[in-house]
Amino acid sequence: MSSVDFTPAPNFIKTIITEDLQTNKSGGRVHTRFPPEPNGYLHIGHAKSICLNFGLALEFNGLCNLRFDDTNPSKEDVEYVESIKTDVRWLGFDWADREYYASDYFQQLYDFALRLIRKRKAYVDDLSAEQIREFRGTLTEPGKESPFRNRPPEESLALFERMRSGEFPDGSRVLRARIDMSSPNLNLRDPVMYRILHAEHHRTGNTWCIYPMYDFAHGQCDSIEDITHSICTLEFEDHRPLYDWFLNELEIGHPQQIEFARLNLSHTVMSKRKLLQLVQEGVVSGWDDPRMPTLSGLRRRGYTPEAIRSFCERIGVAKRDSMVDVALLEYCIREDLNKRAPRVMAVLRPLRLVIDNYPEGREEELDALNNPEDPTMGTRKVPFSRELFIEEDDFMETPPAKFYRLSPGREVRLRYAYFVKCVGVVKNQGGRVTEVHCTYDPNTKGGDAPDGRKVKATLHWVSAPHSIAAEVRVYDHLLSKAEPSEEEGGADFKTLLNRRSLEVLKGCRLEPGLSKAAPGSRFQFERLGYFSVDSEDSTPEHPVFNRTVTLKDEWTKIQKTQEKEPAKLKSPKAIPEISAGRQRTDLVPIAPEITIDDFSMLDLRVAVVREAGLVPGADKLVKLMLDVGEGRLRQVFAGIRSAYPEPENLVGKKMMFVANLKPRQMKFGLSEGMILAGSGKNRLAVATFDGDLEPGDKVS
Ligand code: ATP
Ligand code: MG
Repeated sequence: MSSVDFTPAPNFIKTIITEDLQTNKSGGRVHTRFPPEPNGYLHIGHAKSICLNFGLALEFNGLCNLRFDDTNPSKEDVEYVESIKTDVRWLGFDWADREYYASDYFQQLYDFALRLIRKRKAYVDDLSAEQIREFRGTLTEPGKESPFRNRPPEESLALFERMRSGEFPDGSRVLRARIDMSSPNLNLRDPVMYRILHAEHHRTGNTWCIYPMYDFAHGQCDSIEDITHSICTLEFEDHRPLYDWFLNELEIGHPQQIEFARLNLSHTVMSKRKLLQLVQEGVVSGWDDPRMPTLSGLRRRGYTPEAIRSFCERIGVAKRDSMVDVALLEYCIREDLNKRAPRVMAVLRPLRLVIDNYPEGREEELDALNNPEDPTMGTRKVPFSRELFIEEDDFMETPPAKFYRLSPGREVRLRYAYFVKCVGVVKNQGGRVTEVHCTYDPNTKGGDAPDGRKVKATLHWVSAPHSIAAEVRVYDHLLSKAEPSEEEGGADFKTLLNRRSLEVLKGCRLEPGLSKAAPGSRFQFERLGYFSVDSEDSTPEHPVFNRTVTLKDEWTKIQKTQEKEPAKLKSPKAIPEISAGRQRTDLVPIAPEITIDDFSMLDLRVAVVREAGLVPGADKLVKLMLDVGEGRLRQVFAGIRSAYPEPENLVGKKMMFVANLKPRQMKFGLSEGMILAGSGKNRLAVATFDGDLEPGDKVS
């Protein structure tokens, strides 16, 4: 079923379960549950919990229930229940007939509450919510007992019954557990068990106007369902003593609670509250907007369940909170689609290419491979004719060094077709190239020259008259910052929204075979990335594709830098040249000695400045676009503005560049390396080369 192979990795939870099985702790059973609250759509963090709970059941021949924790009627909805079921099924897991609801146990929970009242372990409190909060104390001060704490059980029983029958308004009374107001664990300071809420519940309607708190429901639900291992996220560690207290006082069965770290993903938000806010305020088009980290969003974007399961397996399960780079998720989908998505040609920003020596009206069908990774996927015919579209940025009239694609006089290969050579261009009044004219060499059909001559680039293309038009939606990260700080990630997280997270390209041209592509189907557009047919908006008349992920793999790069952490530059300031013999008194002390091996960890390169400009809002910075010979430019922010108030003058200069420095997310964008400069008091100069060096040459 899966095209992503992975062997389940060991983790500390499996170790616990294995031990429990050996000691026959729960009669040799493993029974887990996934307990979502139906107050939003599931996200990739939930996928971690789903894969864990259902995965453990599968691995240990046990069972996993789907249980809706629906104790809060005001936020819950059947729409969410249905979406959750769809998503869990889509991920590939099956709960058979074990679909449960906390609301199914409302009567049982009520009876449990009566039992505790009778035991003097619970009481009805008339304090207001605010007073309860005040009386609760703090981490350093004990709480104060409520004046109603010692009310006789009969009185509490009668009041609780009247709460249930609807006699009292919301917030006027609560039922509290009678534990210990001076406990160092605040959860044990007489927590609220029931509150009055005159709200209609999506399942129980108006049967109830008191609802159990999550903390009073969760452990008891686990117990009712005979769960053996209750796996939850770390923040519930402090609640465990309370769950244990309830179960012990009620003298009912005891699942083992095990806590693990929740998933945090870079460049995105994961709390349902914030995701709901994005939906309600129209920042995104809905819960399934392809930029959302929801499972429905990822599905619509083109993610496969296999890729998400593989991701969840790779991130593993730990006890410590950490941030996972979204590049790992992207790596997983790329790895999956690379093997199974058919490759096709599509031009996102079309530029017309006319082959002057190709007979007008002629057309031919060329053979194209559907996936070089998998020959069993076969070949297809692609129409070729005199007029084609190529990608706008595959042509440059005055190419910089290392631009090997099409330009006047240059010959390139058209994938699966011929060599073509540019012989001229047509421009519009604004001087923009609107047509590229070429000649083709008929002897190069299929892509090779009989005389053995080579070209440096292969371009994708579509035949202009045969191609179909489409809309392509190109997505980027939801947040412009990888790891928002606590304050940034809080109420103000919207200031971090990436305003360029969606680019809609109209007038893209696709090879004609794609007119039959089914909604949701996935393709590799050669040289561009993976794309899938939008399941909501695409029609045969107006096809819409979503970019799932680019071809560029950031993850392998991140891993390499992590493995080979570059040596920290203790003193990046070079020592200015001084006249021989004079001893400086103001010299910055020379840093401790290092070995040649330490030094060789720095990858220094020649970088040629292609663009340079000021950074609005940053009076010390200059933004440089540097060519390090990688076929793309690196963006670097350098604090050199004081010495270079007109940074344009730096264009063309060859600089000394630290190429293996971890990229740093700055307020103004990503800085992908560092240029070296010499500096002293009120003086600064960047290190440059003269002479015949190419971008990317090693500096040693
Ligand atoms: P949110 O904070 O986004 O509202 P939640 O924990 O309240 O999430 P629930 O519907 O209660 O959402 O979660 C169902 C299950 O999924 C719980 O067991 C919870 O621990 C788990 N879960 C939620 N978010 C994550 C996450 N980021 N990583 C791992 N597990 C998660
Ligand atoms: Mg929760």
